[in-house]
Amino acid sequence: MALIVQKYGGTSVGNPDRIRNVAKRIKAQRDRGDQVVVVVSARSGVTNELIDRAKSLNPSPDEREMDTLLAIGEQETIALTAIALHAIGVQAVSRTGPQAGIITDDAHTRARILDVTGGDIKRQLDEGKVVIVAGFQGLTANGEVTTLGRGGSDLSAIALAWALKADVCQIYTDVDGVYTADPRVVPDARKLDLLSYDEMLELASSGSKVMQARSVEFAQKYNVLFEVRSSFNDEPGTIVKAEAPNMEQILVRGVAVDKNQVKVTLSELPDRPGVAATLFQALGAQGVVVDMIIQNIGRAGLANLTFTVAKEDVPRSEKVAKAVITELGGGKLLPPADIAKVSAVGIGMRTHSGVAAKFFGALAKAGVNIMMITTSEIKISVAIEPAQADTAARALHAAFDLGKA
Ligand code: ADP
Ligand code: ASP
Ligand code: MG
Repeated sequence: MALIVQKYGGTSVGNPDRIRNVAKRIKAQRDRGDQVVVVVSARSGVTNELIDRAKSLNPSPDEREMDTLLAIGEQETIALTAIALHAIGVQAVSRTGPQAGIITDDAHTRARILDVTGGDIKRQLDEGKVVIVAGFQGLTANGEVTTLGRGGSDLSAIALAWALKADVCQIYTDVDGVYTADPRVVPDARKLDLLSYDEMLELASSGSKVMQARSVEFAQKYNVLFEVRSSFNDEPGTIVKAEAPNMEQILVRGVAVDKNQVKVTLSELPDRPGVAATLFQALGAQGVVVDMIIQNIGRAGLANLTFTVAKEDVPRSEKVAKAVITELGGGKLLPPADIAKVSAVGIGMRTHSGVAAKFFGALAKAGVNIMMITTSEIKISVAIEPAQADTAARALHAAFDLGKA
């Protein structure tokens, strides 16, 4: 008898028929004699709708209240899934994130998990029940409801799999697994059978939203094996685990696109030690995650500093930038501009040369102009015009021969 954690995403529980389909899959697993814990997301679109509703009343809603609001989405689907299971004769009980003992810090709307107690899940399983847990939500030590950042049900599932010492964590979604690129952008993208945590993490943090980046970080830290697969068929999915020796033979594993990025530029800053430190310390203190950074010296020895952030962090970044300009006694804040980030990822980059040449050659041939560049040991990313993002992704995908044979 195995203990299995299954997570079903928003599309998979999007309407009553789909919830019925999920219930059937859970029953099939249960009929094999396994213990099953299920994590569900809100119906697709519901979290966005709730955010829009709040913003129609107040453009910058209080984050604590947002968490109380957003937790509704997952609370609906846990109950409906349990109800659908009862209808086909499966004993099941729903648990909210707080009831499942998902303990977090108090960073509302992006809380970090501090501990997972599991609540009474073990006892419910031993009594023969399937336990349906609300993804995306947790509880602070002071009893406040929190949420784990967008896509956070992935993190709930991985963290529960770790806490319950599950044999495997299955992430069920609306694609057959992790592909060499978003199959909706690159039509000949290929499904990957196996991926290392490092590669999955770089793909996720470069915009492949098939897994939430923080959930992959957690899985890697605690060595939680997981599989990404479809809730609409029985095809094997993508296994993500620690590195296997022969993985390095493949130079580039995948291409990712992130269209949720904005560049913020401060021009005519004084060029002296401590300017960058002042800015990035202030941004960090406000919880802004900075991605790419570029600095150059402009007219009269003054410096220009450009950095990129996620769209939702723009208002906070502008506020910080204005305060820093005042503090430094110089500089101008330019209007923020949308950019797209396109990245190529692969652990083979560590040991092979010529990847950069191929990467930039492909973009040049496709007529894509580059605004910023960043690299890691296993990734190259560029910031480009959003309108060219899909062209760039397809060009890179082709240049590295990632398509179907
Ligand atoms: P869920 O609601 O199940 O969590 P998401 O919408 O969060 O699903 O993630 C699945 C989507 O991720 C897919 O529909 C696909 O368009 C997108 N995606 C982006 N990059 C990739 C990739 N490399 N492989 C597979 N899917 C990807
Ligand atoms: N419902 C949440 C979101 O849309 C969490 C999730 O789906 O994973 O971000
Ligand atoms: Mg998701």
